[in-house]
Amino acid sequence: MYDVVVIGGGPGGYGAALYAHNFGLSVALVEKGEVGGTCLLRGCIPAKTWLQSAEVYATVRSAGDFGVVTGETSFDWPTALARKNKIVNGLVTGLSGLLKMRKVELFEGHGRLEGPGKVTVEANGTTQVLEGRHVILATGSIPTELPGLPFDGERIVSSDHALDWADQPARVGIIGGGIVGCEFASLLADVGSRVAVFEMLDQIIPGFEPDAAQELQKQLKRRKVRFYLGTGAAVKDTETGLTIRGESGPSQSGIEVDVVLVAVGRRPVTADLGLDTVAAETERGYVITDLSTMETAQAGVFAVGDIVAGTPGLAHGAFAEAIAAITYIATGKTQPVDYRALPNVVYTSPEVASVGMTSLTAAESGLAVESHDHSFLGVGRARIVGKNRGFVRIINQVDGPIVGATVVGPHAGEMIHELMYAVGWEALPEEAAAFIHAHPTLSEAVGETLLSMSGRSLH
Ligand SMILES: Cc1cc2nc3c(=O)[nH]c(=O)nc-3n(C[C@H](O)[C@H](O)[C@H](O)COP(=O)(O)OP(=O)(O)OC[C@H]3O[C@@H](n4cnc5c(N)ncnc54)[C@H](O)[C@@H]3O)c2cc1C
Repeated sequence: MYDVVVIGGGPGGYGAALYAHNFGLSVALVEKGEVGGTCLLRGCIPAKTWLQSAEVYATVRSAGDFGVVTGETSFDWPTALARKNKIVNGLVTGLSGLLKMRKVELFEGHGRLEGPGKVTVEANGTTQVLEGRHVILATGSIPTELPGLPFDGERIVSSDHALDWADQPARVGIIGGGIVGCEFASLLADVGSRVAVFEMLDQIIPGFEPDAAQELQKQLKRRKVRFYLGTGAAVKDTETGLTIRGESGPSQSGIEVDVVLVAVGRRPVTADLGLDTVAAETERGYVITDLSTMETAQAGVFAVGDIVAGTPGLAHGAFAEAIAAITYIATGKTQPVDYRALPNVVYTSPEVASVGMTSLTAAESGLAVESHDHSFLGVGRARIVGKNRGFVRIINQVDGPIVGATVVGPHAGEMIHELMYAVGWEALPEEAAAFIHAHPTLSEAVGETLLSMSGRSLH
């Protein structure tokens, strides 16, 4: 009998298995593929590795502006792919070693609940039964297909396939202008592919501050990415490739592409998990939990990560939920995730990062807020690095604390973290403005915004 049986070895599952050592809990981890899950194998890490290669290429191409003379430059796709694989494999090996060191027992196979406290593991025609005082479900998510447009891995692909393209595609149609779609658009445009993005809504990266989305769109357009917003897309096979056509607007005449990347979201992997053998409840396939403990309606059965109903599908969210579940299992104390202060980063060029409320969600909540912006235009460090487009926006409750922030610009994904503390600790603008940012830094844009919020601006 284990203290905890975990099904799924992604950030939620391996996070729970690793964290359990703090309390001396015995853990069995069931994974049907490799440990690491979407994040390590098919998500965060490979995608950001590709983006880094694209950024290095873009930097080298603009080296002349910095007085650095280079020869002819070209992008070597197979080498970038090999580097991506090396980084992923290295991290998977490291994680496997860490799990072993923490004495987590790994079971390879398909895990399924067989009533409370019981998990079967099926592999190669054999079935093993594991018993646990607690079970944590962390089976994650997979890409969503569009009706009538199933993935074939060659011409109609998901992000899983695109991260492993053996050769650089020349012309790519991307359906879905969310985070995944825009990250691919950014990296493909930087390495010279022709890219067209179709998005049903009127804004790319929906959910982010509209001005930030517009800034990103503007900068991607400068790199020749074509955007078709407010329209669905239909795909047709032709002799010379695929034609992707918007349902309305200028793309109705059709755009020829070699491959269509469908990036319209992900769905939870809960269909074959034995949820019907326990009292856990679901909503459109997502598992409903008490967010203060991550426990489902079935006592002793917990869920974390992408399968949880109503929480963002982010790797760091999954880690935090795993910590909340294990803390409750081990101590009976609640340590809920503070979703209010969970940062969300788009790793495009430029990066977009946000934490807490946007001006839209603040308006929807009925909270009286005000916001202040500071552009990177005149920020010394931004000029030095050659990336001075974008801005910092900080939102505070009128006469009250900071409730949200967005940064669009260089290293936004790093800069957002000081604002995470401001939102999490409900800092007043004048409290946060009392601290001095080093000069010259990109973060000075945050300091300048805080000064303006306190009624006194400097630059
Ligand atoms: C292209 C892309 C880029 C992304 N970039 C980021 C990013 O930059 N930052 C970020 O925070 N998030 C990012 N994400 C999202 C992030 O990857 C997920 O939120 C995160 O991986 C969710 O973790 P999880 O543990 O819930 O599930 P997963 O990582 O999906 O892991 C679930 C695991 O469970 C296993 N499994 C499923 N069913 C069973 C079963 N019955 N038995 C045994 N094993 C099973 C699967 O094989 C898998 O290994 C990205 C996603 C994609 C697709």
